[in-house]
Amino acid sequence: MEKKGKVYLIGAGPGDPELITVKGKRLLSQAEVVVYDYLANKKLLAHAPKDAIFIYAGKKGGSTHTHSQDEINQMLVDHARAGRIVVRLKGGDPFIFGRGGEELEELVRYGISFEAVPGVTSASAAATYAGVPITHRRFTSSVAFVTGHEEPGKAESRIAWDKLATGVGTIVFYMGIKNLPSISANLIRHGRDPQTPVAVVRWASTPEQRSVVGTLANITEVVREAQITPPALVVVGEVVSLRDTINWYEQRPLFGKRILVTRSREQASELVQSLEDLGAACLEGATIALEDPEDWGPLDQALARIADYHWLLFTSPNAVAFFFRRLAALGGDSRRLQGPRIAAVGTATAASLLSHGIRADLLPEKFTAEGLAEALLSQGVQGRKILLPRALKARDVLPQSLQQGGAEVDIAPVYRNVRPAMAADIRQALEEKKIDLITFTSSSTVTNFIDLLGLGTEELASLLAGVKIAAIGPITAATAAKAGLTVDIQPATHTIPGLVEAIAAYFS
Ligand code: SAH
Repeated sequence: MEKKGKVYLIGAGPGDPELITVKGKRLLSQAEVVVYDYLANKKLLAHAPKDAIFIYAGKKGGSTHTHSQDEINQMLVDHARAGRIVVRLKGGDPFIFGRGGEELEELVRYGISFEAVPGVTSASAAATYAGVPITHRRFTSSVAFVTGHEEPGKAESRIAWDKLATGVGTIVFYMGIKNLPSISANLIRHGRDPQTPVAVVRWASTPEQRSVVGTLANITEVVREAQITPPALVVVGEVVSLRDTINWYEQRPLFGKRILVTRSREQASELVQSLEDLGAACLEGATIALEDPEDWGPLDQALARIADYHWLLFTSPNAVAFFFRRLAALGGDSRRLQGPRIAAVGTATAASLLSHGIRADLLPEKFTAEGLAEALLSQGVQGRKILLPRALKARDVLPQSLQQGGAEVDIAPVYRNVRPAMAADIRQALEEKKIDLITFTSSSTVTNFIDLLGLGTEELASLLAGVKIAAIGPITAATAAKAGLTVDIQPATHTIPGLVEAIAAYFS
């Protein structure tokens, strides 16, 4: 039987990529074609298969449309007829000022099967994220969603302004920024109190969110002064006054802060997630990519006589990951590690070990190579055989101090740092002064970052003027200082959670 195409009309939610529905996300992961809008967060596209066909349908209010509505309808029909699973991804809810109905009517006309999945509409998100309960028993029991696209003055208006002005408690206008002067004038003219509070929320539920509050009488002025441009929602009604009490999103410690996270590609996510949870907007700058060593010989030989070792030391989660990947490739698992005691430099490394079923026997008080060396030396290492799987290039303080203490140390490279090209968007963000803070989580992130920029001391200083610098620990901070950077933030605990806490404290 011929494969049958189908169209899923899916609400992407208002902006925060986590506000898509579970169903929407699942269907997106099965898409063969994704037709998406300006307002649908691009991060959602990562849920679709990499080899799907991605089509940007454009449609940004005010500017030229990338595709006409007819063209979009035609695309949906054509791809579905070719037997493909098509996801039509729209910002917010597809049926709320989203032309979802029109697109489905077209599919019906062509006999194409479809399903629709609702989404969190931006009015709901704007209210929630601006601290305005859209209804509240003390204030109102009715709410209206209204398009502000229509010129309120026009004779054949389809909005009953006289009824709307006083007939509904909370009124939310979509696409209302351009017509804000006539919207507020019209509501006042038809009897709404000029002192009614109004909130305008731009890019709701994203790190770019901005909101202002005024009254019907002065909101046009407030919006003009704050230079609020679309996309934004206008929320009119007494409930807006609750914002003084409830505003939570914009009060998170890192709200509005733009942070460049320099990390290895494999590792950025934990730090980024924690910072974003506190309200920051993160840009991920990979300064390191990790690759297999060219020669697995030293590790393979060490594994062959693993029982001879007294200690096996891990100084990073990366070392753990690459070590176990190799072990698995050789057909082994953690049971092969019977014999040596196992030490981790810090809690993250210990957690990685635990994920392989191994509880570290030793965790130093200070989570640095020096701290680990000290902890081992205090136990006595004379005559002990120690295996250290680690990066090809790394500081030698750990093996050296152990050797001085009389140990026999074998170093087995399990990965190497290679330098990726600096993403153009990062350099641009720095040039446009759109970065408040840069985080460094190892010495090599510092040196690679500086090398990638490829600037002289003065140019570097001017590019980074005003940008705060956070370093995870003393070694990283020293490397940054040596490169001419002023370190503003350095946590007492040299871990990712410690770093996040120090950053939050700094900005609070
Ligand atoms: N279907 C969408 C609305 C599309 S109409 C929904 O359900 O949300 C486009 C208008 O939606 C914009 O002009 C703006 O008024 C509003 N809008 C969409 N996303 C928004 C956001 N994140 N923040 C503020 N307004 C938004």
